Amino acid sequence: MTVSSATVPTLTLNDGHEIPQLGFGVFLVPPEETQRTVEQALEVGYRHLDTAQMYGNEAGVGAAIKASGLPRDELFVTTKLDNGHHLPDDARRTFAESLDRLGLDRVDLFLIHWPLPTRYDGDFVSTWRTLVELRDGGGTTSVGVSNFEPEHLDRIIEETGEVPAVNQIEVHPYFTNEAARAADAHHGIATEAWSPIARGGISGDPTIGAIAERVGRTPAQVTLRWHLQRGDIVFPKSMHRERMQENFALFDFELSDDDIRAIAALDQGESGRTGPNPNTFDLIRG
Ligand code: NDP
Repeated sequence: MTVSSATVPTLTLNDGHEIPQLGFGVFLVPPEETQRTVEQALEVGYRHLDTAQMYGNEAGVGAAIKASGLPRDELFVTTKLDNGHHLPDDARRTFAESLDRLGLDRVDLFLIHWPLPTRYDGDFVSTWRTLVELRDGGGTTSVGVSNFEPEHLDRIIEETGEVPAVNQIEVHPYFTNEAARAADAHHGIATEAWSPIARGGISGDPTIGAIAERVGRTPAQVTLRWHLQRGDIVFPKSMHRERMQENFALFDFELSDDDIRAIAALDQGESGRTGPNPNTFDLIRG
C-alpha cells in the first residue's frame, strides 16, 4: 500500500493548533547522517519532525527541510530546550540559535526537555514562563513540556495559569506510564509517547508477535497502532528507509479492544523504563 502524508490524522491541541499524530524522531541520529536520514523520512511522507538541542542534529534537520523544498506550512517541527539552558536568558539565547540551525523563523512546538527538579533550586517555573514568552513573541506556535510528572504539571499550571500543549513522556508496552498520561488528560494536554517501540525492544515479544501475525502486520506496526488508538502522538526513529515505510503504514488496519488491553497488560511499571526517571535525572553536558 502507498501511504501519503495526507493519510496521517491530526489532533487539535489545547491552544487550537493541529499536530500530525505520527511523526519522525531523530534522537541518536548522528549529526553527519541527519540530513540524509530526514530527507528519506520526508520522501516516505513524514511531515512532523521531532529534534532537540541535546541531540546535536538540528542543523541536519534544517538542511533536509531546506533541500526538500516543501512549503513550511506542510511541516510540523519540534525542538527542545537543553538541560543546561534553563535560566531565562540562556533559554532565549539558545532558542534563537536553534531557529538559526533549523533555518526557520518559527518552530511549531518548543518543549522543556526535562524538568530537572534537583537543579536550578527546583525552579522550572521561570523556565516555563520563558517558553510562554517565546510563544507570545511568535518564535514558536505552541509550547509544551517533556518528562513532566503529574506534580510538575500541577505546579507550572498553578503558578502561571498556562497549560502546556503537550507533555512528551516515555510510553510503550513495557512502561505504559498511566499516571502521567492521566494527568495529561486531566489538564487537556496531549501526550506524546517517546521510545514508542521501546527502542526496538518489542520486536521479539510473544504477545505482540501473536497479534501481529493475526492482523498480518509487524510487531512495530502493531505497537505504533496501539499508541495511535489510545490517542497518543508518536514519532518512531529509524535510519533505514524500509523501516521508515513500515512505521508509516499504520492507517489501513485496526486493533480490537482486547488487543489494546493485552498490550497494555505488558506494563512492567518502573522497571520497564528504557530511560531515566524524571524526578532524579539531572544530566547537564558541559
Ligand atoms: P523508538 O522506540 O522510536 O525506537 C528506535 C529504535 O528502534 C532504533 O534503534 C531503530 O533502529 C529501531 N527500529 C525502528 N523501526 C523499527 C522497526 N520497524 N522494527 C524494529 N526496530 C525498529 O526509540 P527512540 O528513543 O528513538 O524514540 C523515538 C523518538 O522519541 C526519538 O527519536 C526522539 O525524537 C523522542 N525521544 C524523546 C525523549 C525525551 O526525553 N523527550 C527521549 C527519547 C526519545 P534503526 O534506526 O537501526 O532502524
